[in-house]
Amino acid sequence: MASLGHCESPGCTNSAKLQCPTCIKLGIPGSFFCSQECFKSNWKSHKIIHSLAKGENVDGRKDDLYNPWPHYSFTGKLRPFPLSAKRVVPVSIERPDYADHPQGYPLSEQAVKGSGLIKVLDDEEIEGMHVACKLGREVIDEAARVCDVGVTTDEIDRVVHEACLERDCYPSPLNYYEFPKSCCTSVNEVICHGIPDQRPLKDGDLCNVDITVYHKGFHGDLNETFFVGNVSDKHKNLVKVTHECLMKAIEIVKPGEKYREIGNVIQKHAQAHGYSVVRSYCGHGIHRLFHTAPNVPHYAKNRAVGVMKAGHSFTIEPMISEGTWRDEVWPDKWTAVTADGMWSAQFEQTLLVNETGCEIMTRRRERDGQPHFMDKMG
Ligand SMILES: [Zn+2]
Ligand SMILES: [Zn+2]
Repeated sequence: MASLGHCESPGCTNSAKLQCPTCIKLGIPGSFFCSQECFKSNWKSHKIIHSLAKGENVDGRKDDLYNPWPHYSFTGKLRPFPLSAKRVVPVSIERPDYADHPQGYPLSEQAVKGSGLIKVLDDEEIEGMHVACKLGREVIDEAARVCDVGVTTDEIDRVVHEACLERDCYPSPLNYYEFPKSCCTSVNEVICHGIPDQRPLKDGDLCNVDITVYHKGFHGDLNETFFVGNVSDKHKNLVKVTHECLMKAIEIVKPGEKYREIGNVIQKHAQAHGYSVVRSYCGHGIHRLFHTAPNVPHYAKNRAVGVMKAGHSFTIEPMISEGTWRDEVWPDKWTAVTADGMWSAQFEQTLLVNETGCEIMTRRRERDGQPHFMDKMG
């Protein structure tokens, strides 16, 4: 039997008789010790090499070590985590044009860009929107069920993806301008367009889940901000006021109202509570196209074009921040975060203008339509 050489314990000159069993399992060469005692006395420093081999940091946690952008300075505490493999949609489900475009370009959307023309839906199209919006609501209710402490946003994305397929829906975000996942999950200082990844949600987090489904030629789009475990009163208030901003805006929707008025209503309410309104991202027309005219800013004194008419369908989706309204985008080119790292919340519904006002097509059918966070407000 060949000699194992000397014990690796610092200062020990005995010949080695045993090898660390974990190192054998992990395929780490060396790690020879003379005795159990020497092995144990050296354990604290030795186990670090196990962590390194497993891609963990020295505390055995998997965060801190993965940093795809070493030169980027983050505005807040949130960090990106690795993504899972791309999910697949069976060919039996009807797909939007961008689903198979190499750069995810929505050519049908780009063809009408800049015309500013707002489509008036006919009865058949309205029925198509009703179905897509109702299915989108069912999918977000599934996401709400699983959003909890310790659950990764990737797991939420898996549940959303499966819920779409079960309902014969294509998850609209998937491959839209190459977006890699089936929904957006925006945590804490993320304003919108967060990419579901392998970070487990922490107690006290806010997690917005933005769902769009494509069913038989129509998109339905909605989002809600969920509480993860025990959320601080200050963050509960941010979420509550953000939802109020959306509801107050919806109240003014009726034929003849100007699209630019929505921002005035939202900013007035946000500002009264000391919050700011994000300016870089807006509500949008939605029907056969995912994002189209009208453009619907959420901030005051905007110059949005257009007057509401019965048969228009569009979203209102205010993003309200604790601190600055300014945003920046992570090097992944999607994740929009607050420039000061303070937290932001959002709610979204898809609306149909009717003769007297509007219908919230993506409304919750349970609990009188109240958002999920209110179930936990107590
Ligand atoms: Zn959305
Ligand atoms: Zn939207």
